[in-house]
Amino acid sequence: MSGSTAVTVVTGGSRGIGAAVSLRLAREGHRVAVGYTRDSSAADATVRRITEAGGSAVAVRADVSVEEDVEALFDTATEELGRVTGLVNNAGVTGLLGRLTDTTAETMRRVLDVNVMGTLLCARRAAREMSTRHGGAGGAIVNISSGAATLGSPGEYVHYAGSKAAVDTITVGLSKELAEEGVRVNSVQPGMIVTDMHAAMGDAQRPWRNKDRVPMRRPGEPEEVAGAVAWLLSPDASYTSGAVLRISGGL
Ligand code: NAP
Repeated sequence: MSGSTAVTVVTGGSRGIGAAVSLRLAREGHRVAVGYTRDSSAADATVRRITEAGGSAVAVRADVSVEEDVEALFDTATEELGRVTGLVNNAGVTGLLGRLTDTTAETMRRVLDVNVMGTLLCARRAAREMSTRHGGAGGAIVNISSGAATLGSPGEYVHYAGSKAAVDTITVGLSKELAEEGVRVNSVQPGMIVTDMHAAMGDAQRPWRNKDRVPMRRPGEPEEVAGAVAWLLSPDASYTSGAVLRISGGL
């Protein structure tokens, strides 16, 4: 889907990778529902940047781990922007960096709730909207996973790495389930990308401190992920489903 008919929900679209994805999609003609949980000024700023450039967007407060919020997010997107044709499952959290032995059960539960349940709840609603089996006109889902899914992230957040491996397995299964119903499902695995997420995990300098882990010897920018997401949602990716695309400077 692309052009004026594309309506895409971007969860966590207010900041970081999600904001770059929202702006990029808007430039390519998508109408964008920008999801967020707390920072309404960041969400409003992203929407403003889109509308000032001539695009259409709406900010919607929705915690992806809450079923009612997810339903309301899609309801608002449909009412304000039109029939939903795309979903970027981008909202994600890590909790504080640390070994598993130092990680609370509360943190683990929250990470699994947001990263896994959030992905499932949003994907389920998107499939109900877009699958031809449910009267939809087709569409595409991109799940934002992480390089952590295969690296495992020892000493940092193995619970988060596990949640992202689940995201990739959901991608594979759902891509097969929906393949005959006009819906493509793919994953993107970013490596170390410069966003506020590292400060939230307790180490704002992490992307630079760890740059020697990366074959390209630098962290990535959110815009370097956004292009891949836009491609996966575009007609150029019409035969691509179930793919897991690494964007990590070689890591
Ligand atoms: P970020 O800068 O921390 O932004 C997170 C976004 O998600 C914000 O818009 C935030 O909204 C929203 N959000 C947080 N919890 C939410 C919830 N429960 N429901 C809905 N929205 C929620 O993160 P980022 O670095 O851009 O990461 C985006 C995605 O990329 C995540 O899935 C992350 O795991 C993945 N990723 C990031 C990196 C990296 O190095 N940055 C690497 C690999 C994968 P509020 O502002 O309202 O809280």
